Amino acid sequence: MKKIGVFGGTFDPIHLGHLYIAYEAKRTLGLDKIIFIPSGNPPHKQNKKVTDSYLRYEMVKNAVKEYEGFEVSDYEVKKREKSYTYKTLEHLKEENNQCEIYFITGGDCLIDLHTWNNVPRILELCKLVVFNRPGHNKKEFLEEKKRTELKYGKEIIYLDFLSLEISSTIIRDRIRNNLSVQFFLPSEVDKFIKKNNLYK
Ligand code: ATP
Repeated sequence: MKKIGVFGGTFDPIHLGHLYIAYEAKRTLGLDKIIFIPSGNPPHKQNKKVTDSYLRYEMVKNAVKEYEGFEVSDYEVKKREKSYTYKTLEHLKEENNQCEIYFITGGDCLIDLHTWNNVPRILELCKLVVFNRPGHNKKEFLEEKKRTELKYGKEIIYLDFLSLEISSTIIRDRIRNNLSVQFFLPSEVDKFIKKNNLYK
């Protein structure tokens, strides 16, 4: 059975931290491919100003094109209504019904998983893969993982790798302060940001 990794995020902008965890997930779980899904109108970031979804989609497209087995989907950016993860997973399952889906997220998502819509359905449709993230207490994180597994009766895959201390927030702040971000993201994305004068 084929194994597909699904990596959802705001990707505002996509950076090397994202690409790195996708690479490690693909390698260690033996995934056939990873589909990056930039969010359209993210329910979790309603109060934040988020860059236009098509621009974020284009950045992801530019970032993944040189990596084998990395793809991008415009499923969520094309939707007019809020994008809920369980709906996206239902759509992917329909399109790839003989595949096993691995949904990749950073550790921060596990902490607020209870606020997501229809978690039991999410865990029915995919295996949840969570990554360690800098700044998170590993012991607390593992306790949260255990609690979540007991609550929903599903196993969660935890990948503990070296983690890059990069976030989209750091990148946006640096650009606003006229600092270079070329060491944090692929050069194509850096060029795209400059060309479109983003985050100024
Ligand atoms: P922001 O700073 O705007 O909140 P972000 O850098 O967290 O953005 P998102 O697009 O929100 O990026 O992240 C998508 C997923 O990638 C999330 O599950 C997040 O935890 C994870 N992630 C982002 N950066 C890293 C990193 N450096 N290491 C591990 N996981 C990461």
